[in-house]
Amino acid sequence: MTIPEAFTFSQSSLNDYLDCQRRFELRYLMDARWPAETSSPANDFEAAMLRGADFHRMIHQHTLGVPESILTASVRGDEKLANWWKSWLSWQAAHIPHDVVRYAEISLGAPIADFRLQAKYDMIVVLPDGTLHIYDWKTGKRPKQAHRKTDMQSDVYRFVLAQAGGWLIDAEAVPPERIRMTYWYAQDGLTDSLTYDAASMHTGEMLLSQLVADITATPAFPLTAEAERCKFCVYRSLCDRGTRAGHFETEDLTADAPYDDAATPFMLDDDLLNSLEM
Ligand code: SF4
Repeated sequence: MTIPEAFTFSQSSLNDYLDCQRRFELRYLMDARWPAETSSPANDFEAAMLRGADFHRMIHQHTLGVPESILTASVRGDEKLANWWKSWLSWQAAHIPHDVVRYAEISLGAPIADFRLQAKYDMIVVLPDGTLHIYDWKTGKRPKQAHRKTDMQSDVYRFVLAQAGGWLIDAEAVPPERIRMTYWYAQDGLTDSLTYDAASMHTGEMLLSQLVADITATPAFPLTAEAERCKFCVYRSLCDRGTRAGHFETEDLTADAPYDDAATPFMLDDDLLNSLEM
């Protein structure tokens, strides 16, 4: 199956391709829907996804100017969400200057190897010296460093911002040295921060271009050889890779809210995704 000319790549689709080529084909080229549970217990998993989406929405609304008191009062009977919110409020007050421009839930796109690459940011902060700081709120488990190193999100987000974010600082493009990125983890309040420079932008662009070239040239999209990855994939039955979902609380997953375009090592049911779209 060939990639349509108008296809838009994202960190999610690239991560899916790296996780399982067949999943990429089913989800992005065939638009296949398959009602397998992504994780068990399904209700717990769905509740976790909804909580993550609520958390992202609250930060979005906070950025738009909805008073903290109203947002805090909106958390009723969900102790975990209340703790995340309280933790985020004090963290952002200590780490993000109050009087800077914040853009929440903003999408940018840039060309890559004859295609388009899109990134949806939880928040971009414009600092007074022209530095652009990307923030990404993670409500799943903090990944091991090895996972973060192979995750496409950091490369995609920083590259797209460098190419397409110039208007945020009244420039044609953003010098890579002026880009920072921080992942903030709601479960423990810890962060992972990254810088950027011309060398890492060049390396990232080469990596992304090569990956897109590989995807567009591949004659077939085989099933992953790592069957463990199938436990949290909605296409299990379609691929004859089992019918029982893995347990999301006991596995080393980095489950995240579908409100953003974050990488997830498993697939989310499209109906759930649509129902959570803000
Ligand atoms: S079930 Fe396994 S092989 Fe099939 S798409 Fe999902 S991850 Fe790939």
